[in-house]
Amino acid sequence: MTSANCIFCKVASGEIPSFGVLDEADAVAFLDIGPLTPGHTLLVPRAHYESLLDVPPEVVSSLAGYLPKLGRAIVEATGATGLNLLQNTGDSSGQAVFHLHFHLIPRQAGDGLGYRWNTTQYDRGKAESLQSSIQEALRRV
Ligand code: 5GP
Ligand code: ZN
Repeated sequence: MTSANCIFCKVASGEIPSFGVLDEADAVAFLDIGPLTPGHTLLVPRAHYESLLDVPPEVVSSLAGYLPKLGRAIVEATGATGLNLLQNTGDSSGQAVFHLHFHLIPRQAGDGLGYRWNTTQYDRGKAESLQSSIQEALRRV
């Protein structure tokens, strides 16, 4: 199933051109039009799902199965020494295209990519309360 005005449905069908690197029955991968680093690639299911929150596990499972080989190819082709896998879900995360996709971003030491891992700490009791909330939600969702 596709969605009429979705950019990535159109890329997957070929209606919008892209620099495709992987063409499978259920998924495609292509170069991001605005790469964070050279070789920045998007892996996308052909079927339209908005995000990680509404996709069936078997679709994610198949998609994830392409990651190791695709990652190796991107690393080899770019000469990268590392790779970030990124998936944005929802406006606040930075998701701009509401068709599920994984970013594969090749990395080099000192590549200047402005990505910061700003860690925080839990106040007393907060981790325990989050643990039980998430465990309780897992039984319902
Ligand atoms: P998001 O912020 O939704 O996780 O990422 C969307 C990504 O899609 C962005 O990195 C953006 O550069 C890329 N993008 C948006 N439109 C197109 C397009 O038409 N073609 C390609 N190849 N990439 C696109
Ligand atoms: Zn779509």
